[in-house]
Amino acid sequence: MANSGQKVVLITGCSSGIGLRIAVILAKDEKSRYHVIATMRDLKKKDKLVEAAGDVYGKTLTLLPLDVCSDESVRQCVNNVKDRHIDILINNAGVGLLGPVESISIEEMKKVFETNFFGVVRMIKEVMPDMKKRRSGHIIVMSSVMGLQGVVFNDVYTASKFAMEGFCESLAVQLMKFNIRLSMIEPGPVHTEFETKMMEDVAKMEYPGADADTVRYFKDVYLPSSIDIFEAMGQTPDDIAKCTKKVIE
Ligand code: NDP
Repeated sequence: MANSGQKVVLITGCSSGIGLRIAVILAKDEKSRYHVIATMRDLKKKDKLVEAAGDVYGKTLTLLPLDVCSDESVRQCVNNVKDRHIDILINNAGVGLLGPVESISIEEMKKVFETNFFGVVRMIKEVMPDMKKRRSGHIIVMSSVMGLQGVVFNDVYTASKFAMEGFCESLAVQLMKFNIRLSMIEPGPVHTEFETKMMEDVAKMEYPGADADTVRYFKDVYLPSSIDIFEAMGQTPDDIAKCTKKVIE
């Protein structure tokens, strides 16, 4: 349970990658300023987080189940927070999807939007009334450089992040009146399971419907240069977690 001086921070998607590191870094804050509610859709995946949290687990870091694609799970999770009082919401959960549009079903595309767009919208809608009442709060959204620029064969992922950018830019103006901040973080490539899965998907990828020049560009120019950029400039989940901490301080 948070003590009176601590800010309550709820983070989505803490089973791995960036979310896990944000949860641990905030829970281990040198001045104990945060009580972290780390959430994940499958609590069976908690071991990595619990191990990384060490002795702060059960103290400044507690766990709750949360699937951002489910209205019921979102409502229950926020109801489980004392007085539904969340000072800082960090929308981190996200999924990728790679491939030519012709090879992806509308159902698969909808799943990406359910998580990356509606997952964020659901969370914001649930915490906003209390934040407005208290006239304070900070909402963070983990976007991507792909929320700013389209990338070949990432059409659907990019679209989901663009949609979220538009939603948040519009909403931020309305929240300002209530002293609620809304911040977007737009990482470039980060070494996580997300990126590993993307590389595996690329290796298996087929290109039905895509024209030969685009495929050649993707394989011979875009991918090798991305890998070079990644090797030279790829960030770690800790880099993004530290950046997030700075944004909320
Ligand atoms: P990971 O795949 O390591 O982590 C994604 C997290 O989201 C996992 O905990 C996953 O849970 C969770 N998640 C997925 N769907 C749901 C859901 N329906 N409800 C709750 N949690 C869910 O990826 P990253 O840490 O790299 O990604 C975190 C965020 O950063 C994403 O929003 C991503 O778009 C963004 N990003 C990542 C970049 C990168 O290069 N890695 C670059 C730019 C932005 P589970 O274990 O259950 O699948």
